Amino acid sequence: MANDTNIFAELIAHCKEYGYIFQSSEIYDGLSAVYDYGQNGAQLKKNIRDYWWKSMTQLQDNIVGIDAAIFMHPTTWKASGHVDNFSDPMVDNKDSNKRYRVDHLIEGYAEALPEIDAKAVLVAMDALLAKDDYAGLKKLIEDNKIKCAISKTCNWTDVRQFNLMFSTAFGATAAENEGDNIVYLRPETAQGIFVNFLNVQKTGRMKIPFGIAQTGKAFRNEIVARQFIFRMREFEQMEMQFFIRPGSQMEWFNYWKAERKSWHESLGIPAEKLRFHNHIKLAHYADAALDIEFEFPFGWKELEGIHSRTDFDLTQHQTYSKKKLQYFDNDLNEQGKPIGNYVPYVVETSVGLDRLFLTIMSLAYNQEKWIKEDGTEDSRVVLKIPAKIAPTKLAILPLIKKDGLPEIARSLLDDCKGSFMCFYEEKDAIGKRYRRMDAIGTPFCVTIDHQTKEDNTVTIRYRDTMLQERIALADVKKLVLEKTTW
Ligand code: ATP
Repeated sequence: MANDTNIFAELIAHCKEYGYIFQSSEIYDGLSAVYDYGQNGAQLKKNIRDYWWKSMTQLQDNIVGIDAAIFMHPTTWKASGHVDNFSDPMVDNKDSNKRYRVDHLIEGYAEALPEIDAKAVLVAMDALLAKDDYAGLKKLIEDNKIKCAISKTCNWTDVRQFNLMFSTAFGATAAENEGDNIVYLRPETAQGIFVNFLNVQKTGRMKIPFGIAQTGKAFRNEIVARQFIFRMREFEQMEMQFFIRPGSQMEWFNYWKAERKSWHESLGIPAEKLRFHNHIKLAHYADAALDIEFEFPFGWKELEGIHSRTDFDLTQHQTYSKKKLQYFDNDLNEQGKPIGNYVPYVVETSVGLDRLFLTIMSLAYNQEKWIKEDGTEDSRVVLKIPAKIAPTKLAILPLIKKDGLPEIARSLLDDCKGSFMCFYEEKDAIGKRYRRMDAIGTPFCVTIDHQTKEDNTVTIRYRDTMLQERIALADVKKLVLEKTTW
């Protein structure tokens, strides 16, 4: 684990050094739990998003995508339960005034215990959380003499709930965050789908079962924001709500459970690094729920949630908006009559784009060492990002900056750049250029040398194996397309 912690710190440094992720507003010392994606990070993030979007909206016959606004009518969040229920139990240390999420405080303490004791504490915590027993949680903290990391004291306030939604005000009023002008920054994208259920169903003439997919920003005022981009205050979700007949929810829950796990595997995530975790305490809207967890360098954590949300959300919006949100099912029942009107049930798949990005990066980041033929040691840092989502697909490198080699290289660039992301570079020794491409995860490098002028062949170098071979210049584009198209 100590080694994993070092590797994780090195991965974070690598993300900064190679233009993947920067701390937000770094020149002002940053903003806690907010990050910016740099030139390579933004492209990788877009490629992951596109991969998800295509598999949902293009490869499935009955799922369409929308893009709802971040601001929504405030009643949305009353109806969804977020105003009243979207909170975490917190506790403050009276000496340092530092606030902790109760589960994080106890989990942090348990990490340092022998396994058997840690398990006992965590089981006790889960049981108390499941009952919303705040006095019991406080007693658990006190009985175990859990201390604040800053004050080192065990002087705690009562456990209380804090809402995680950010709010702001519409219009030009002096008193912000008050009265009718209050609007929230959405804490999940799902509600933008629910309020548009009938718009999409009618205009798209969608027949149940069908899904609506969406990607977009969500905001949560996470109190303890840790572990780099794992838990942020501004993040991106990729959610899909699948509308189904009441009673068929377990069938679809199991379908999406299997489908989503194999989708992650299709991105090169090894099956043994993924597992299901069934929820014991269900959210107020769910009748079944599980997480797909990934083994991050800091342990097994949630990557995606799959929730059977029943008809909770549509029924709530129906009640609050006083508009019918029902579906007329023309299929025939046992008596040969149309099944008629009902509020559909929903199975949701919800994955964090940033968490998936971190998953891909933690698998991709490799430090390699080997002994060369002359007996000396060599090493490299390489990002083995799956070629189909790598930010740059092909580096085009003339061996030297003269003798007509740059001209040939530029004409290859012109031929390829309309089809995939290329990078052109003529500076530095070729070995150095290869290492830089390894570090940003470019799967293919092509070197144009003097032989190219004679026989129209180039050297192609493969990132993962470092193998090099000679291929026809005319075949480069086809080869890269074959290996990166999905
Ligand atoms: P957690 O228990 O880790 O706080 P959650 O159960 O609240 O997550 P959901 O509400 O189910 O998460 O959100 C769906 C997905 O959105 C999560 O699986 C995760 O990938 C992502 N997500 C949620 N909160 C954050 C966050 N603060 N930063 C980054 N991604 C997040």
